[in-house]
Amino acid sequence: MSKVGRNIHVSVDRLRQLAHRDARPRKIKADAGTCPKCDSHYSADEMRRNLRVCPACGHHFPVTARERLEQLGEPGGYVELWGDLRAADPLQFTDLRPYTERIAEAEKSTGMGEAIVCAELEVRRAPAIAAVMDFTFMGGSMGAVVGEKFARACDYAAQKGVPLIVVAASGGARMQEGTLALMQMAKTVIALDALAEARVPVIVVLAHPTTGGVWASFASLGDITYAEPGALIAFSGPRVIEETTREVLPADFGRAERQLANGQVDAVVDRRELAERIGRVLHILRRPETDGTTGTAPPGLQWAQDGAQKVKSMMDRMRPGATDSGSGG
Ligand SMILES: [Zn+2]
Repeated sequence: MSKVGRNIHVSVDRLRQLAHRDARPRKIKADAGTCPKCDSHYSADEMRRNLRVCPACGHHFPVTARERLEQLGEPGGYVELWGDLRAADPLQFTDLRPYTERIAEAEKSTGMGEAIVCAELEVRRAPAIAAVMDFTFMGGSMGAVVGEKFARACDYAAQKGVPLIVVAASGGARMQEGTLALMQMAKTVIALDALAEARVPVIVVLAHPTTGGVWASFASLGDITYAEPGALIAFSGPRVIEETTREVLPADFGRAERQLANGQVDAVVDRRELAERIGRVLHILRRPETDGTTGTAPPGLQWAQDGAQKVKSMMDRMRPGATDSGSGG
């Protein structure tokens, strides 16, 4: 037998390996700075400067509560409120591990005491109170402390007469607190009522993901509601609904852009424009007395007052018993 015609034996696995290697050039190992949408890679410093938005494709990376406050606030920063509140464990709940252990671990890994950070700050020089949720702390779940801090933020905003900014990011109620967590839905809604009575505006920003009991309570009750691009905003995630209803949902189910079309949000705002947008709204809504000038309202408010006055006088004239109703008939 001639040597020329001899077969070469290569295993199928080896061929697959070679094909795989050729098709996919070697990349940097994906980490926190790798964009899941377009594979671009950024250093921690670049991420901070880009407000954690991918400049190549616009993907919005998650933001921690404190980072968010720094992005929204002035360079001077913010003053954190009620940072010492910690969850109790009245149910002495244990799933695979005790609840107290999970809380301690979350605090150690995030450096935060709870899934919400409240602060007093200025957005583009307009004063505001902020309640910002953090998904990295036990999935941004709402327990008694989240409810309490949110209610305190509402009270404080009403007392000071400055708008409340809420940034939501949550997986829903905290199951380790059972019914006590569910009660926070009612508590936060009632707290917002007091703000409405005090005529204090509430601006809500829906970040990815806003779901469950948080979406079903305070997150859906803002006077102005913004959402970040691509954020999931739904009571249940699409996978759960598909499994329950056995229906195939559209690919954009519950996404911010779909919720805008549904009328659930007022605008989908790029994070890089968010502070500017909120700042502008705060200046328009600003009360004359917070400017230190009692007589003259800022242009935006003056315009609104003029408009309201015109509507009122028009309505008065149209009333059946009005004295100046003309010749009548
Ligand atoms: Zn990208």
